[in-house]
Amino acid sequence: MSRLDGKVALVTGAARGIGAAIAKAMAEAGANVLIADVLDDEGQAFAEAIGSAARYVHLDVTKPTDWQKAVESAVQAFGKLNVLVNNAGISTYGLIEHLDDHDWEKTLAVNLSGVFRGIKAAIPAMRSAGGGSIVNISSAAGMLGYTGLPAYVASKFGVRGLTKAAALELARDGIRVNSVHPGFIRTPLSMAGPAPSTDAIPLRRMGEPAEVGNLVVYLASDESAFSTGSEFIVDGGQTAGAIVWGFDDDSDAAR
Ligand code: NAP
Repeated sequence: MSRLDGKVALVTGAARGIGAAIAKAMAEAGANVLIADVLDDEGQAFAEAIGSAARYVHLDVTKPTDWQKAVESAVQAFGKLNVLVNNAGISTYGLIEHLDDHDWEKTLAVNLSGVFRGIKAAIPAMRSAGGGSIVNISSAAGMLGYTGLPAYVASKFGVRGLTKAAALELARDGIRVNSVHPGFIRTPLSMAGPAPSTDAIPLRRMGEPAEVGNLVVYLASDESAFSTGSEFIVDGGQTAGAIVWGFDDDSDAAR
């Protein structure tokens, strides 16, 4: 028996990047998966490539009516909803002094309010299914501040807090809620910003989307049944602490 046999999952922002890797890993682990995104052509093609275990649905996470339709689609296509992965996210760059109000609001609307709306929309279906697992994709930027990413950092800290509030509230329904905190992962989003340096990453490399997918499969499965309201970090050691220069390599001075 596979780890996610019999589970139905909805993954947002799943047409590409980390969301696509999560959807693929879940389907490979036996789940039926709703691939939700605003990129309709990419999302449709990706769902077809996965096969009969996947369907595509258009979902802009800022729109409550889209959420309602997406949850209904999951129930219609596969009979229920057990897992929600709130993955869709955007980045905006700029120092606070120069950050446009519109960029601030847009970032919070997608990254934080989108997660709130998703949790809210999924509760009735998960309750009917006898419980479920909600996985919110935050970031290393939900654990640490970063210059030039004020709205993104605020949204990702918000996701971490909302996860804990939701976990407390939904435990009585058997619905677990956890946050995942990826570091630098090689995707279109991370490659669009300033060139990322691996100097501050103890494992000295970027992560791959599949490495986040593997963690999410665990959180979606019953293997993680005693975990809720928790933070799961997948960042090559980046948030473990600061690397002290001169003591960070294999040179004699560092030994
Ligand atoms: P990505 O490659 O840009 O993929 C994100 C997907 O979400 C895109 O298809 C995007 O479509 C879609 N999306 C944007 N706004 C949406 C909306 N309103 N409703 C539904 N879908 C929407 O990003 P990624 O790197 O895979 O990131 C996925 C998640 O991981 C995000 O929450 C991100 O903050 C988080 N994360 C990423 C990294 C990293 O290094 N990559 C690190 C930490 C956390 P568009 O192309 O139209 O925007």
